[in-house]
Amino acid sequence: MSKRMEFSRKIKALIIARANGKCEKCSAMLKTGEGEVDHILPCALGGEATVANGRLLCRVCHVEKTTDDIRRVRKSDRQRDKASGAVRSKSALAGRKRPKPALTKALPPRPMFVTSSLNEEAGK
Ligand SMILES: [Zn+2]
Repeated sequence: MSKRMEFSRKIKALIIARANGKCEKCSAMLKTGEGEVDHILPCALGGEATVANGRLLCRVCHVEKTTDDIRRVRKSDRQRDKASGAVRSKSALAGRKRPKPALTKALPPRPMFVTSSLNEEAGK
């Protein structure tokens, strides 16, 4: 078991202050206490719990990032396995579940789909 390097309160506070109330990836507005401090380089790959290696993410980005981290860690495992011939094909990973983007993600408005006929429907 490797020890997880968690961010201290002070480091977290500095990262949150820097993020200025937004997700540092997708710029979604975050309410107080809503953001999650993430390791840019995962601790599994040697990332440290420092301000430079931390960023504030919304839940959606954090879930995506965590999935990506797992893939990166697995990839480094696979590269290690290559020498022994224990390489798994892509199809072995195809069945893996990926988290769906949650509705909390702030999407830009899509005015092209707002038609007058829709407004008429609503007015009935
Ligand atoms: Zn985000």
